Amino acid sequence: MKEMEKYDYLIVGSGLYGATFAYFAKRKGKNCLVIDKRPHVGGNVYCEQIEGINVHKYGAHIFHTSDKKVWDFVNTIVSFNRYTNSPIARYKDRLYNLPFNMNTFYQLWGVTTPEQAIERINMQRREALAEMGITDVASFSPANLEEQALSLVGRDVYEVLIKGYTEKQWGRPCRELPPFIIMRLPLRMTFDNNYFNDSYQGIPIGGYNKLIDGLLDGVECKTSCDFFTVYRDNWRDVAQKLVYTGPVDQYFDFRLGRLDWRTVYFKHYVKNIPNYQGNAVVNYTDVEVPYTRVIEHKHFEMFGPDVDKCPKTVVSEEYPAEYSEGMEPFYPVNNIRNNKLAEAYQQMSRQEDDVLFGGRLGCYKYYDMAPVIGQVMQLWAGDSEP
Ligand SMILES: Cc1cc2nc3c(=O)[nH]c(=O)nc-3n(C[C@H](O)[C@H](O)[C@H](O)COP(=O)(O)OP(=O)(O)OC[C@H]3O[C@@H](n4cnc5c(N)ncnc54)[C@H](O)[C@@H]3O)c2cc1C
Repeated sequence: MKEMEKYDYLIVGSGLYGATFAYFAKRKGKNCLVIDKRPHVGGNVYCEQIEGINVHKYGAHIFHTSDKKVWDFVNTIVSFNRYTNSPIARYKDRLYNLPFNMNTFYQLWGVTTPEQAIERINMQRREALAEMGITDVASFSPANLEEQALSLVGRDVYEVLIKGYTEKQWGRPCRELPPFIIMRLPLRMTFDNNYFNDSYQGIPIGGYNKLIDGLLDGVECKTSCDFFTVYRDNWRDVAQKLVYTGPVDQYFDFRLGRLDWRTVYFKHYVKNIPNYQGNAVVNYTDVEVPYTRVIEHKHFEMFGPDVDKCPKTVVSEEYPAEYSEGMEPFYPVNNIRNNKLAEAYQQMSRQEDDVLFGGRLGCYKYYDMAPVIGQVMQLWAGDSEP
């Protein structure tokens, strides 16, 4: 080994992929250097403490999974609280429970039994199809997202809870969006406001930084360190292998073209009251309000009387936006062009010797947190060594 070649792995990105990789590598006796271009570790789950509240700086993160191995693993690093995601939708001055369930249908129509709710939805679907001039329902193929949603849930649910929110999210009218964005719209015929169907969910007690710090305990990390300015040309002098969790197109100098992203930017406010909206997540579903959601961070970690014990609160408005350079690449845009381009980059990644591409940027895929951790656990399962 050359003198400088001291690390087994140079890990680009200290998000959950990079941090989990470093954790398992260290347990196998490997020496890692983790770098991140941001001034902190943690990637998108990083939280900043403001007024004693953990503020999710890159968007609200709720951990949920049915994978017991992943759940048991993260709980060895930090315990999780009992937070259950039950978002509220606000349309003009009325509030509705999400996901669409018996509470929502009661709020919309005053129906009190599943039978009444199903009857109302079926009637609205029939009306919507008739308005579109569809007589042969079996061979109906929706031309856009609006037609798709109307055929699935009818006009009331679509107009109150889907239309404005989706148009703000994608920056285009639903009639100009492809139907595949909404393949299914699950309707729950029970009074159950729990957004996720998973067996386990919660927030790390003390915040996500505890999870990241636990994963990176004893691992050398350099922040404010951009791979492309510091290690791009000499990483082989520094490490045997590279784990790259940055954007895949950037790694290849955008040779085949740039992949598109959607992003979200935030306006954070400190309010001089203990409780602003009574819930962590409120979705604004009318098109007149420019933001899609307001997050009140304390409700992720403070429950019951603890809410009032903390005299201030921090809220974040979320504004979806088209991605441009300098913004955060958050959501892949999975249209035909991007999917083809991503596949071509993936083929190129497979040819790169000693480089492992991972995470949501490295694979150009939207992954929740638990699958990212699960993928890394799989890499290190048994005697294998990636
Ligand atoms: C707005 C939003 C909300 C989300 N909410 C949820 C949720 O509620 N529940 C859930 O399970 N999942 C959620 N997710 C998904 C979750 O954020 C991801 O699963 C997770 O962050 C993936 O980790 P990662 O390491 O792949 O990526 P990241 O966390 O993005 O980490 C990648 C890191 O690489 C660094 N990097 C990039 N380029 C370079 C470079 N050139 N040099 C050095 N460093 C570099 C970046 O700075 C970043 O820190 C959400 C995602 C977004 C965008």
